[in-house]
Formats: sequence, C-alpha cells, structure tokens
Amino acid sequence: MRPFPEPVRTEDNHGFWDAADEGRLVIQRCATCARWQHPPRPMCPECGSLDQAWAEVSGGGVVYSCSVLHHPQHPAFDYPVVAALVDLDEGVRLVSTVVGVDAGAVRIGQRVHVRFAPTTAGGQIPVFAPEGRT
Ligand code: ZN
Repeated sequence: MRPFPEPVRTEDNHGFWDAADEGRLVIQRCATCARWQHPPRPMCPECGSLDQAWAEVSGGGVVYSCSVLHHPQHPAFDYPVVAALVDLDEGVRLVSTVVGVDAGAVRIGQRVHVRFAPTTAGGQIPVFAPEGRT
C-alpha cells in the first residue's frame, strides 16, 4: 500500500494529526462537560465551552457503514478504496478506511481496531483493520 496523502492541518485539527504521527488516536473532549466531539472544533455544541482538550481513546470500534470505491480514481490511492464510518467505543464516529482485508469482505457491524498508516510526508494517519489482525 502506498503512503496516504498528508492531511491538511488546521488550528482546530492539528492535535488529532500530531497525535496520529506519534501512533496515538485522540479525540477532542470538552474540558467543561466531558462531551466527545469529532471533527474537532473550537466550541462545544453541548455547553458552549471553548475549553477543549485531547483525550486518547481505545482505538476499538465497529463499522457503522462502508462503501467500496472504484471510480473516479485519484492517483494518490490504490483502488478499490474502502470508505468507512467507524463508531469508536467511546461513541464518536470517524470517517476512515479499513485495511488488511479484501475490500468486499468489510461488513457493517464488524469489530475493527485502529492502525497507523504512513503518509507521503513521513507522518501517520489512523486507519482501521479487523480486530485481531496485526
Ligand atoms: Zn461541553
């Protein structure tokens, strides 16, 4: 598998990508009311607090939905690509991909666990693989 394109870092999401570079999956959590939120943003939609922190999560989750992409193809990716919505055990939904298994074998409800895949700039991004696989 070729390296993934380097993610675009913003003031709001750099904590997520910086942790991924270190092989850690973190999710933004409100320091006032403890609500998880993703994608990262400056204000908690629950309590309005601007005090947001990063908390490491287990990396385990379930495929909520998935689609196998064949076209149109971007030269940065190997096809087919599995586009997956993964519900983390902490209750946060991420857009990601599932690797380490044939694209057609990914199933809704399947247990997955985070892995880290290299990027073109030497960083890492979180991806998911079926639980129990290395
Ligand atoms: Zn809050």
